[in-house]
Amino acid sequence: MNHNSVVAETQKLVLETPVTAQRASRRQQDYQQVSLYKDVNPLDWEDWHWQLKHRVRTKEELAEVIKLTPEEEQGIKKASGRLSMAITPYWVTLLDPDDPGCPIRRQAVPISFESVVGPHEMVDPCAEDRDSPAPHLVHRYPDRVLLLATDSCAMYCRHCTRRRLVGEHPESNSAGRFDAAIEYIKANRKIRDVLISGGDPLILEDDELESLIQQLRSISHVEFLRIGTRVPVTLPQRITEKLVNMLKKYSPIWVSIHFNHPKEITKRCKMACDMLADSGIPLGSQSVLLKGVNDRPYIMKRLVHELLQIRVRPYYIYQCDPVKGTQHFRTPVAVGINIIEKLRGHTSGYAVPTYVIDGPGGGGKIPIGPNYILSQAKGKYVLRNYKGKIYTYLE
Ligand SMILES: *Cc1c(COP(=O)(O)O)cnc(C)c1O
Ligand code: SF4
Repeated sequence: MNHNSVVAETQKLVLETPVTAQRASRRQQDYQQVSLYKDVNPLDWEDWHWQLKHRVRTKEELAEVIKLTPEEEQGIKKASGRLSMAITPYWVTLLDPDDPGCPIRRQAVPISFESVVGPHEMVDPCAEDRDSPAPHLVHRYPDRVLLLATDSCAMYCRHCTRRRLVGEHPESNSAGRFDAAIEYIKANRKIRDVLISGGDPLILEDDELESLIQQLRSISHVEFLRIGTRVPVTLPQRITEKLVNMLKKYSPIWVSIHFNHPKEITKRCKMACDMLADSGIPLGSQSVLLKGVNDRPYIMKRLVHELLQIRVRPYYIYQCDPVKGTQHFRTPVAVGINIIEKLRGHTSGYAVPTYVIDGPGGGGKIPIGPNYILSQAKGKYVLRNYKGKIYTYLE
C-alpha cells in the first residue's frame, strides 16, 4: 500500500464513522473527532515526523483530551526528568477520556505509584549492563546478542524494563557509536543471531537504520536478524513503503512487535502490519503481563486471536520485570500460568505464546507454565491434558 492510498484509507475511515458510535469508533482512527486534532490535515497526520513532533508531553495538553485524576497529575509532575511522558497523537486518540483504568491510558500516562520502589525492585533487574561487552551490546546467550540501537521510542511505556536508559538523549545518537559492537560481533563467530532493539530502532531515520543493518548483514556468520519494536502499535505511520522496501532488501529480517491489549489492534495498526507481512517479513508479538491491563485470560485470548488475524504470531508473554517503580503493574506468577492454562489446548496452538520470567540478575528468559507431568518414574509418565483428564505414557 503506498502513502497516498494509506491517506485515502484514513480519510475513508474518518468519513465512514457515524458520530453516534463515538466510543466504538475511537478504535477506527477517527482522529478528527478529538478536539485537539480536528483541524489536522490527513497528510500531516500520516507523516510520522509530524506525529513525533506533536507528541503530548505536558499535563496541560493532556488535560485537553482526558479528565486527569490527581494520581495522574502527580505522576506526570514526578516523571519529568525520568522516563518522560511522550504520547503520539495517534495513541492519544485511543485514550478513554473518562476511564482512568483504560488499558491504553494506563500504559502511557504516568501515575504517582511510579515513585514507589517495591521490596525486590532494581534499576537493571536483568543485569544487562553487566553482560555488556561493548557499548550498546548485551551478550547473554552463546549464539545471539541484543543490540540497543537507540534510547528513544515513539511513546514511553510506563512499565518499561529499560527505563534506566530510555528517553531522549540526542547526544547519544552519535555516528560510529556501534563500531565497537560491530567489531565484537565480527570477532565472535558463534554469534548467528542479532536482535536489534532499544529503545525503538524504528525511530531511527531510514538511512541510519539501513547502514546498521547493512553492516550486520555483511558479517558472514550472522544469519538471523530481527528487530524489536513497538512502532506499529504506537506510531503505525512510521511503517512507510520506503521503510518496508528497505527492510525487504536485507531479507530475512524478522520483526517482534510489543502488543499488550486488543484495543491496540486498530485498523491503522493492521494496515502497518499488513505492509510488513506483505513484504515477506515474519511478525511475532511480545507482551508484558500487566495488572489491570491484560491480566485476565479472556483479554489475552482476544489479543492472541486478533494477532493471528493480522498475521502476527504470539511469541512471548513476559512477567513484568522487577524494575524500580513498576510494582503497581506486577501480577503474581500464578496469573500468567493460569492464562497459559486457559489457552493451551483450548485454542489454536499458534495462538499460544510462551510465558517467561527473565531470571533476575541475568538468568535469561525462563519458560514458566502449567505442569502437565503428574508423575514420572521407571519409564512411566502420568500426564494430564488440557481438560484435566489423566493419561499414562509408557516409554
Ligand atoms: C530476549 C533476549 C534475547 C533473545 O532471546 P530469544 O529467546 O532468542 O528471543 C537475546 N539476548 C538478550 C540479552 C535478551 O534479553
Ligand atoms: S517501546 Fe519498549 S523500550 Fe520503548 S518505552 Fe516501551 S517498553 Fe520501553
